[in-house]
Amino acid sequence: MGTRYNNILETVGRTPVVRINKLGPVDIELYAKLEAFNPMGSVKDRLALGVIEDAERRGALKPGQTVIEATSGNTGIGLAMVCAQKGYPLVVTMAENFSVERRRMMRFLGARVVLTPASDKGSGMLAKAVELAETHGWFLCRQFENEANAEIHSRTTAIEILDDFADTRLDYWVTGFGTGGTLKGVSRVLREKSPDTKIVVCEPDNSPLLGSQQPQARAATGMPSASHPAFRPHLMQGWTPDFISKLTEDAADANLIDEIRPIAGSDALKVSQDLARLEGIFCGITAGATLAGGLQLAQSSPPGTKILCMLPDTGERYLSTPLFADIETEMTKEEIEISRSTPGYRFDKPSAPAPAPKNAPVKTTPQAEQFLADALKDQNNPVVMFALEWCEFCWSLRKLFGRCTIPYRSVDLDSAQYQQDNLGGSIRAALNAHTGCVTIPQIFVAGEFVGGCTEVFDEFKNGRFQQRLKDAGVKFDTESSIDPYTLLPTWLHPRK
Ligand code: PMP
Repeated sequence: MGTRYNNILETVGRTPVVRINKLGPVDIELYAKLEAFNPMGSVKDRLALGVIEDAERRGALKPGQTVIEATSGNTGIGLAMVCAQKGYPLVVTMAENFSVERRRMMRFLGARVVLTPASDKGSGMLAKAVELAETHGWFLCRQFENEANAEIHSRTTAIEILDDFADTRLDYWVTGFGTGGTLKGVSRVLREKSPDTKIVVCEPDNSPLLGSQQPQARAATGMPSASHPAFRPHLMQGWTPDFISKLTEDAADANLIDEIRPIAGSDALKVSQDLARLEGIFCGITAGATLAGGLQLAQSSPPGTKILCMLPDTGERYLSTPLFADIETEMTKEEIEISRSTPGYRFDKPSAPAPAPKNAPVKTTPQAEQFLADALKDQNNPVVMFALEWCEFCWSLRKLFGRCTIPYRSVDLDSAQYQQDNLGGSIRAALNAHTGCVTIPQIFVAGEFVGGCTEVFDEFKNGRFQQRLKDAGVKFDTESSIDPYTLLPTWLHPRK
C-alpha cells in the first residue's frame, strides 16, 4: 500500500537507521539514524512541530500570532516550514556567524531573520528573542527549556529506535546536544525500555561544558544567566551553545548520561567527508562529530557490539563552512587532465565553429520597425534594453540598474510576450539593421545606442553612462559605487 500524506508536516520523523559498512571495524555493527530525511533536512523539524502543536493545544499560541525563536539555523528552518504550513508569521534571531545558507533558506520559506552580533554569542541571540517577544507579544518557543522539545523525541525518535532494534540489542546510543531535546527525550525512554543501552554524549573537545563538571548559572525561568566558563567557539554548529540548557542538565541530573566523549573538530570534518565518499551518506558537521564518537567506541568494543549514532542534518547547508573548504569550484588538475584526454569541448582549444543555421534568416517587418521606432522615442522610458529573458549579461545589467535605481524598460525578445509571429525575432532583425550590432543585449538612452553589456559597464566605470542619464533627465542613485563587472556570474569572468 502506498502512503499519501495530507500535508508536509505528516512527513516529519520515521527517519531511517542505516548500517555503516566501511568506516568502522568489520565486526562491529555501527548504525546511523539519518535525521536528514526529515522534510527540511534536520532533526529540528521534530522539535518545531512538537513545540508549535503543544502551544496550540495549550492555547499559548493563538491563530495568526507571530512565533519567535533564537536559533542557529535548523530550528529556524523547521519552524519556518511548520509556520508556513500552519499560517503563523515567524521571526528568527540568529547570531551573524552561522552559515548564510540557513538565513536565506528561512527567508525563502517566508520567515524574517534578525541578526545579532557574533560577539554576543548564543546567549545574545536568545536575549534578543526574549526582548522582542516581550515587547511585541509574540510566542517565544524557548527550545532550550521547553518540555515539548524533549516530549516529541520521547514520542517519536525514541519509539522509532526501539522499534528498529526490537529484534535485537542496542549496546550504545550516541548523540551530541544543542538544546538537549534529543538527549533528554530519547535517553529517558531508552533507560526505561532498553536499560542495557549505554547513553554516550559527545561534545567539542575544546568546549567541554559537561566534561568540565562546572555548574551552569541559571535564572529562575531555567534560562542561563551567564556563559559557561568552559565554553570556547567551536566548529560544530548546532552543538554545545555557550551554556548548558535546562533540558541537557535535566538529562545529566537524572543520570541518563553514561559517558561523555570529547570530539576534535578535525575528526568531525573528516568523518563527515568519509561518510559522503565511502558510504554515500551526505550529512552535516555534527553528524560527522557524532559518528566520530561512535567510531571511537567501536575501536574499543568487543565484536558484535551494536552502536547507533544520531546524525542530525544534511550537508547541504554547510557549503560556506570549513566542511567544504577543500572542495574546488574550478576544475582540479585531475579533472583538467580528464578534459584533455579527448579532443573536443575544452578550454585550451577552441571548439570547431558550429555549422551555419539552415533556417532562412529572420527578416525585419514594418510592425517590428514601428515597434523599434516607438520604443526609441518613448519619453516615458528613456532607458531601453533589448534583452533575452534569462541571459546572464542581461541579468547583470538588470542588477546594475536595480542597485542604482535606474528606471528602464526591458524588451525581452525571447519572452512569451514577443513570440507570436516571431515578433521578437523581427524586432531583433530591425535592431541589427539599425545599430549594425548582432549581439544582445543592446542598450539605448534617449534613443541613442550605447552598446551591449561591456560598453555600458565601461561607460558606467568612467562616468559617461551617468552623464547620459543626467542629460536625459533620468533620476537615479548617484551614491552607488559598484564595479559592474562583479555583477557578472563567475563563469563569464575572463579565464586565467
Ligand atoms: N546538530 C545540529 C546540526 C543541530 O542543529 C542540533 C540542534 N541545535 C543538534 C545537533 C542538537 O540537537 P538537540 O537540540 O536536540 O540537542
